[in-house]
Amino acid sequence: MKTMTTREIDTNTPFIIETEGLTKIYQMGTVEVRALQGVNMRVKPGEFVALMGPSGSGKSTLLHLLSCLDTPTEGMYRLEGQDVNGLSDDERSYIRNMRVSIVFQDFNLLPHLDALSNVLLPLFYRGHIDGTESLARDALDRVGLSTRLHHRPAELSGGERQRVAIARALVTDPAILLADEPTGNLDSASGEEILRLLANLHAEGRTILMVTHSEYASSYAESVISMRDGQIVGREGDDGVR
Ligand code: ADP
Repeated sequence: MKTMTTREIDTNTPFIIETEGLTKIYQMGTVEVRALQGVNMRVKPGEFVALMGPSGSGKSTLLHLLSCLDTPTEGMYRLEGQDVNGLSDDERSYIRNMRVSIVFQDFNLLPHLDALSNVLLPLFYRGHIDGTESLARDALDRVGLSTRLHHRPAELSGGERQRVAIARALVTDPAILLADEPTGNLDSASGEEILRLLANLHAEGRTILMVTHSEYASSYAESVISMRDGQIVGREGDDGVR
């Protein structure tokens, strides 16, 4: 399998994410739920894009497909120039572990592990042994939590938990950070901290795609994609790449 680095990607790929006709149909017994109906989307390396739309419009389904947590029913998805549909299960799990990280509204931390161990997890999945603890410490330092290494999730505030989740997402140095309503469970001050953190990561060149219901949160993004009924119905603030 080809090993890809962020440096290669920035110089060689015009679009870090490219989809054409991406479709997801869930079969519920005899009923078909058309969650995504032909999504065409392009994101350039280093962009910060907000994804908005009413509940049920397909935003989470799209993030799951982009992070290889799920597979499309139809359509093309090219990540860093590579057609993801043609990849083996191992290659797809490599993408999930290493190239695309996702953070969720409810943080998804393991409650019995402290912050450091939660951040170490993706490195264990990767079978990486040497230097892992220093990578995890660095990631927690970047999100301002170097004094909370041994706190468990229950001993952290909501904003701190989300920062641990972001550190866990960053520890593998992914090309893309996906965030599914990352401020949805936070008070406004903690939400603001998370948005500033995402803005800093964007300023460092990270590509970010954030689902949000908040107009305010979306103001941190460079462009806003609007979804309705499983389709993209508008894109504002970009330079017309779509
Ligand atoms: P959003 O994130 O915009 O709220 P979702 O992507 O969660 O929307 O859902 C899009 C549609 O797909 C909804 O109608 C939802 O009920 C349906 N859906 C989502 N996940 C599943 C699933 N695992 N099985 C069946 N239907 C699903």
